[in-house]
Parts: sequence; C-alpha cells; structure tokens
Amino acid sequence: MNCLHCGTTTSNGLALCELCQYAAAKHFEVLPIYFRNLARWRPGRSGTSRPVPGSRVLYDGEIRSPDATGDRISDRLNEALTALSTWGRALIDDRGGFERPLTYADAALSDDLPDEIADDKALVFAWLCIGLEHHLVSIATLEWAGELVRDLRHHDDKLRGLIDLVPGWYAGSCQRKVTMETKCGAPMFVMPGLTWVTCPSCGSTTAARDHLDVILDEAADWLARPKAMAEALVALLDSEQSVPRLYTRLRQWAHQGDLESVHHTTRDYEWSEEHKRLIVTDQPTGFARYRLGDVLALLTRRDTLAAKTERAS
Ligand SMILES: [Zn+2]
Ligand SMILES: [Zn+2]
Repeated sequence: MNCLHCGTTTSNGLALCELCQYAAAKHFEVLPIYFRNLARWRPGRSGTSRPVPGSRVLYDGEIRSPDATGDRISDRLNEALTALSTWGRALIDDRGGFERPLTYADAALSDDLPDEIADDKALVFAWLCIGLEHHLVSIATLEWAGELVRDLRHHDDKLRGLIDLVPGWYAGSCQRKVTMETKCGAPMFVMPGLTWVTCPSCGSTTAARDHLDVILDEAADWLARPKAMAEALVALLDSEQSVPRLYTRLRQWAHQGDLESVHHTTRDYEWSEEHKRLIVTDQPTGFARYRLGDVLALLTRRDTLAAKTERAS
C-alpha cells in the first residue's frame, strides 16, 4: 500500500506512513496552542477587545466571501474550526457514530458538546484535535487521510503566520549576524505557551529558552490561571516536563498558602458595629490567577532545596 500523503510504500497496512502520522500528530499538538493564543485577540472579545492592527483586512477591491469578518485572525480561526468540524463529520459518516456516553473528544467530533463547552471555541477546537488524533489510526485507513494531513498543514501555516501579528513577551533583540560586524537587532516576542521565537525582521527562529532571562524578566508580572501558567512554563523550562504535574503542584502551593492568588475585586460596603460606620469591603470575584514571578520563585526554591537534600544524603 502507498501513503496517501507522501506516496511512499507503507509497511503498516495503513494508507498513512509512520512519518505522515507523526506529522499529523504534531499538527494536532500545536494547532490548539495557536488557536487559544490567537483567540484572545479576536476583536470584540470582552477584556481584550482591541483588534490587532496587522490583523485588519484592508479593502483592496477583492471580493470577500460572505463569511469574512474583516479581521484576519477571526477569519483564519473560523476557517480552521470549520475545517476540523468537517473532518469530524467525515469520520462519523464513514465510521458511524460513537458509543454513548460520549467522551468530550467524541462529542466534539459529533458536534454534540454541552453548551457551556460549545461556547468556548478554543476548547471545542482543542477537543476536535484530541478526537481526530485519537482516531488517527482508524482515519489512516480512509481515502481522505492524505487530504486531512495536507489540510492540517495548511491551517498550521496560516495560524503560525498570524502568531507574528500578536504581541507576546519581549524576548530581547535578534542576535543573528547580518554581516560580520552587525546583528539583526530587531525586537522579538514570544507567545505564552510557544517554545520558539521567530524574528519578525530576518525570520530566524530560535528556541524560547535561549531567551529565557529576558522573557522571565519581562513576564514576571504575567497573571494566569494554573492551567495556562503550567503550559507556558513547560514550554519555556527544561526542568518542567509535564503540564498536568506542574498544574497539580501549582494547585497544591495555592492550597497550602505558599502561592498567593490574585483576584479581580468588586467594591462593596458593610456596616461595622464596632466602628459604627460603613466600611469598604473588597470582595474577590472570579477565578484565582497567579503571578509568573511568584511561581518561578517557588520552582527555584524547590530546586535548591532538592539539591541541598541530595548533597546532604
Ligand atoms: Zn507518508
Ligand atoms: Zn532577526
């Protein structure tokens, strides 16, 4: 049999070779990261409603499709989401429905997610990726398997191209030598959760952790919920390998009071018997978030403690 994507002869009895399956798995891994990071910059979202200037489509006489929003980020995200839902439907058409109760991944593929999840497009997209990856071996026997890998590559390219438009953490100036004496010097930015930085000027791509000192300094005041925090740190630090494990540890630190949580507050007034007057009470609301700088301090403290105990024993 031949691979439907690259044409090589396959020995696994599937219509996708090992390499092309690996490529698909890689796309399923990075696409949700791009999606979530970019979704923060959709215009009209509360909190981060400012559109990214480079994302606006300037009218150039081109006939726009009726679905176009005029914002490139929104358009590309919509296209990617539609594409993956369509592949999900194709899988169900060929394989029949899934056994109930549905897992979230299978529910996403069946377009049958509960409303509170279906409203979060980035989450839906992530579940679609997880679902398609889960069924990849089954997909690799279907005639559209090669087409799927090509389409994933297409959306990967499109979304990655947009990452450069959105601001992230300053990662220092580009050190790439343009001549013997001069360096490129353009400012570079890294997105939380990505492991690499691409220079907007010369295009050289370097590992985010090579810029770690600058990034961590720049990002110390970044606030995030434990999940996003764990994802960003695992992308940056060699010493952290597992998002779920770091996530659990963050929760523990917060629970033990080692890690201070930051909340939005709402101002309220309360009558104080003791003072015989109204006093201001600020009530924390919403989810707890944490400061990257605080988490790093705890991580390094733990590292030094671990090193000390090792030396002592
Ligand atoms: Zn192949
Ligand atoms: Zn450069």
